[in-house]
Amino acid sequence: MAPRFDTDFAPDHGELIDVSPLLRRIVCNNPSKFTFHGTGTYVIGRGEVAVVDPGPRDDRHVADILAALEGETVRQILVTHTHGDHSPAAAALAAATGAPVLGFGPHPTAATSEDDEAVSDDRDWDTGEDRTEPTEEAQAKAREDQEKHRPDVDFSPDHRLAHGDVVDGPGWTLEALHTPGHISNHLCFALTEERAVLTGDHVMGWSTTIIPPPDGDLRAYLASLQLLLDRDDATLYPTHGGPISNPAPYVQALLDHRRAREQQILARLELGPCSVRELVADLYQSVARELWRPAARSVIAHLIALNDGQRARPVVDPSHLMATTTTWERT
Ligand SMILES: [Zn+2]
Repeated sequence: MAPRFDTDFAPDHGELIDVSPLLRRIVCNNPSKFTFHGTGTYVIGRGEVAVVDPGPRDDRHVADILAALEGETVRQILVTHTHGDHSPAAAALAAATGAPVLGFGPHPTAATSEDDEAVSDDRDWDTGEDRTEPTEEAQAKAREDQEKHRPDVDFSPDHRLAHGDVVDGPGWTLEALHTPGHISNHLCFALTEERAVLTGDHVMGWSTTIIPPPDGDLRAYLASLQLLLDRDDATLYPTHGGPISNPAPYVQALLDHRRAREQQILARLELGPCSVRELVADLYQSVARELWRPAARSVIAHLIALNDGQRARPVVDPSHLMATTTTWERT
């Protein structure tokens, strides 16, 4: 079964709203093709609270969080991972509240931002993308977005969280779940009292998750999906988009979707060696051509995973794993 995406979610920006007895959410006004309507910052508990994923470099969002929590105490600031739409505001929020920042660890050196060009040689690859020069205004907006969302390479948590570590406050308990795949330092946070998990970018209801190699790792991602399947949670709360209730069938569908793609790639390689470009043109025939570039990144993530599992290998030069022109074959 293909995953069914929920794209109806339409939050008001800058307003802290109740989403469950122990959870409130305030969405940053940073909508994009990667953040959907924006970053959903969660507040855990009442009175003495934790803040999860404070968001991008956005003074307005930090001011909104502080105003909404006036009269309450921020005990901890937690971060699911160091992409620019999740963690950078932790520094400003920590400075304003004195609360410690907790996360898995610094930004991995091999990690790219979500919108980086992951494929190295695709400048000359005609994917049918619109190449008209963007207006000056659009360019300025793009530059501003890029600055706001650049990866949080300076992230340095006051406390490092490992899988199974617990953070708590009055009436609430959060357990850190290490869920690499999207990025190697990704954590989810299980809210024990509500059988809920804050899933960051690991599982989102509105879209599949980008696995950007080389730090993004498809095999790790599949194992991290299995980790959620092995639990018995009632609700998932992604950083972007609405909650996912009865998550098991949805997470299973995400797994099945990746396995089916892997089978398609293997079947195509059975017919003979084949480049990433040919694979994309074949497997994504029915998909709009402007999506071929992200599709190539996804295919490369699969091929690297198959290479690790010794089920496929690059024919020519193993140093060119990231190139769309590299030809691959079955082992
Ligand atoms: Zn991310």
